[in-house]
Amino acid sequence: MTAIGDISKKNKMGKNTTTDVTLYEVEENSYLLDTPGFQSMDIYEIPSKDLAGLFLEFREHLKNCEFVSCTHLKEENCGVLNAVKSGKISKQRYENFVKIYNDLKYEEEHKW
Ligand SMILES: [Zn+2]
Repeated sequence: MTAIGDISKKNKMGKNTTTDVTLYEVEENSYLLDTPGFQSMDIYEIPSKDLAGLFLEFREHLKNCEFVSCTHLKEENCGVLNAVKSGKISKQRYENFVKIYNDLKYEEEHKW
């Protein structure tokens, strides 16, 4: 298993406390979220729009996005993309984000 990185998730109570969880790539297109103290959760429970906020180092840049609905994939004036360009976010991490985002999006569109 490859650890993609530590990410945090708001707990179900909606409080601002975060729980450190680790995102693993189990195999191609299969992910596992390891959440201490909580049951393992399926990554597809994460709404695609919330994914960027789960990457800790993306967070501070999200507020620089021009649009609230920014997908951070191709928008102009995207805080995340600008941070990737200027080297504040590693390309590798960003590529992981894009890959997972596309998977989540695909699942959402094919859910019904
Ligand atoms: Zn953005």
